[in-house]
Amino acid sequence: MDDRARVALVTGASSGIGAATVRALAAAGLGTIAAARRLERCEELAREVGGRALRLDVSDPESVAALAGAVPEVDVIVHSAGGALGLDRVAEAPEERWLEMYESNVLGIVRVTRALLPALRSRRDPQIVILGSVAGVEVYEGGGGYTAAKHGAHAIARTLRLELLAEGIRVTEVAPGLVETEFSLVRFGGDAERAAEVYRGIDPLTAEDVAEIIAFAATRPAHVTLDYVSVKPRGQASATVVHREG
Ligand code: NAP
Repeated sequence: MDDRARVALVTGASSGIGAATVRALAAAGLGTIAAARRLERCEELAREVGGRALRLDVSDPESVAALAGAVPEVDVIVHSAGGALGLDRVAEAPEERWLEMYESNVLGIVRVTRALLPALRSRRDPQIVILGSVAGVEVYEGGGGYTAAKHGAHAIARTLRLELLAEGIRVTEVAPGLVETEFSLVRFGGDAERAAEVYRGIDPLTAEDVAEIIAFAATRPAHVTLDYVSVKPRGQASATVVHREG
């Protein structure tokens, strides 16, 4: 083992929480690898922080398989790739969207973890951070596809905590409420007005608010695991109870 800076791979680094996490981890002195499908954005970010960029589609097994060769050493994996598609009730559920959400939010975590575990295992202080959500422990009408996927991500986080315990691999789940990123824009197929309505009258979390927590978790001494962190804006009490001003 050497004394070089720890290196973090961040999935979903082309936008929102993932991009902010790359900046926060770089500021904390970690080396960073920014990965997502939109490579140009990752490259721009990598130039900004002095890290690496990779094209990665977590829903494509071949893309993830290539990751193992491209990342021989990694100390921290941050799984931020994911998101919601639509707000469809179960009766009208379009299965392709549900499958896509399951692929990116659940199987993506499984694939990337499996591909990088050998590299992670060789490090002194290996760590995995999973972006969960309030949707991982609560449900709401029209949210079935996304909440089912995030409940899945929550289950994977809990399972990894058990399975990797004896190897000393720390597993952290950070579960935010409303964060203003491209999340709602993606959910509503680019409808900016509908996306803005989600955050109307509340002071939502920013991507940086969540990234700070992830960087905090990644910079604790090796014996400290932030196991599960639930974080919401002041104006949000649950997945559905939000206090809007004005
Ligand atoms: P965002 O701004 O839309 O970012 C989502 C990121 O995921 C993008 O970088 C996107 O990159 C990437 N991504 C999506 N599918 C991917 C795939 N198949 N392969 C690789 N990358 C993929 O949204 P965000 O708010 O930062 O979301 C980040 C995570 O936080 C998600 O897991 C989301 O579920 C979770 N979360 C968000 C909120 C919220 O209110 N915003 C709340 C709780 C939890 P490309 O499109 O370039 O691939």
